[in-house]
Amino acid sequence: MKTNNNIIIVTLYDGYEYDSKLRTGFGFSCLVKIGGKSLLFDTGSESQTLLYNMQQLKIKPEEVEIVVLSHSHGDHTGGLRGFLNANGHKAKVYEPGVFKKPTEIGTNVYSTGALGRFLKEQALAVKSLRGLIVITGCAHPGVVNIVKKAQEIEKIIYIVLGGFHLGDGRAVIKEFKALGVQKVAPCHCTGDLAIGQFREEYKDNFIANGVGKIIEI
Ligand SMILES: [Zn+2]
Ligand SMILES: [Zn+2]
Repeated sequence: MKTNNNIIIVTLYDGYEYDSKLRTGFGFSCLVKIGGKSLLFDTGSESQTLLYNMQQLKIKPEEVEIVVLSHSHGDHTGGLRGFLNANGHKAKVYEPGVFKKPTEIGTNVYSTGALGRFLKEQALAVKSLRGLIVITGCAHPGVVNIVKKAQEIEKIIYIVLGGFHLGDGRAVIKEFKALGVQKVAPCHCTGDLAIGQFREEYKDNFIANGVGKIIEI
């Protein structure tokens, strides 16, 4: 049964393939649908792939009301201009450094606020009935630090999703478990080694992420 609390997260741009009718690319972008509103988190390295994938999934660029950019690297921001042209420049864009602390940007949607000393990076936190969904770009300030920051919004962490930027992931998996992270959906820059480790440790609570993956909560 679908309710107003229904949250849909669609991976639109990633190096990993989930849906073979979509194109992969270096970078990350995902769409969050909540309460009838659409928000885009990051834009991939270029807009052609992003817009192609949106079209394949019947997602209209002009429906997106908010764009949140995690950090200033080109594989997250490169698609912005082309996306905004397709969007008719209607969406409000939140740049990486705009929030100093966790800030609500829409109903049940938060920016964690910027982390990182030199390279500012924000993550997205979405409140669901099962707990918080934390969406990261590259997690350069450390994915554990991001999760801890998100816990200032809500303690229960249901899913952590996105690029975790890891080599060996074992220490992070230990910390995730200590913090109570229930499910993981790593992709983008997480690294094959760490993704394999998450898959092994999280078992049924590991979500294979890639372009075209749709998560409904
Ligand atoms: Zn990246
Ligand atoms: Zn990056």
